[in-house]
Amino acid sequence: MKVLVPVKRVIDYNVKVRVKADNSGVELANVKMAMNPFDEIAVEQALRLKEASGAEEVVVVSIGPAQNQETIRTALAMGADRGIHIEASHDIEPLAVAKLLKAVVERETPGLVLVGKQAIDDDCNQTGQMLAALLGWAQGTFVSALEVAGDKAKIVREVDGGLEHLEIQMPAIVSVDLRLNEPRYASLPNIMKAKKKPLDSLTVDELGVDINPRLTIVKVEEPAAREAGIKVADVKELVEKLKNEAKVI
Ligand code: AMP
Repeated sequence: MKVLVPVKRVIDYNVKVRVKADNSGVELANVKMAMNPFDEIAVEQALRLKEASGAEEVVVVSIGPAQNQETIRTALAMGADRGIHIEASHDIEPLAVAKLLKAVVERETPGLVLVGKQAIDDDCNQTGQMLAALLGWAQGTFVSALEVAGDKAKIVREVDGGLEHLEIQMPAIVSVDLRLNEPRYASLPNIMKAKKKPLDSLTVDELGVDINPRLTIVKVEEPAAREAGIKVADVKELVEKLKNEAKVI
């Protein structure tokens, strides 16, 4: 079985995101970028499947500007076998990503697609679900445990009320959650080896997909600054303030 892992290049989670002066988006110039953390978990899970002889090949795909090839190389350094880069602008929307991924799935015919549950830049949480719908495949979202056995996969989903255990038919789309695993670091020899691993480039035109935006960003704003809190001397004062100042009781 081949496992396909779409990996997105996003602003590094340690960076304080700054809104552009004209409120049209967030500042990307000279900002440290990295692989979406949920996608690192997806790559790790694909590698574990391969190591347990559950997968023969791990292919990573990234859609975005030329710099996305660095993100693909990071996944190759973790241990993925091959990369595919599809050149597009940074702001490509989930539906367009899902359509491009569908075209890649039709070429590559993987048995499993492991996506991140969401990209930490747009927080859309849509691509995996849209891809499953476009392909007509089974999907398991927010997965915190995964076991593949033949043409079925046993998954555990994190839902509000606890954990949901499901069995899904392969081929399937699985979106991975935080607790699935802890991704490995790439070792220096593997970073060197990754430079020689195959990385193909495809264009949007070759895949025949319309990626024109369907959404308009009206305005991007910083969250409102929180007012400083105060300390109260005792419960009596707290109750008095809640009643007369905050007027919540
Ligand atoms: P989103 O729906 O934008 O929250 O993204 C969910 C997941 O879809 C990500 O964790 C990635 O696995 C995948 N994905 C989204 N955008 C891209 C992209 N531009 N290139 C590759 N994979 C992507």
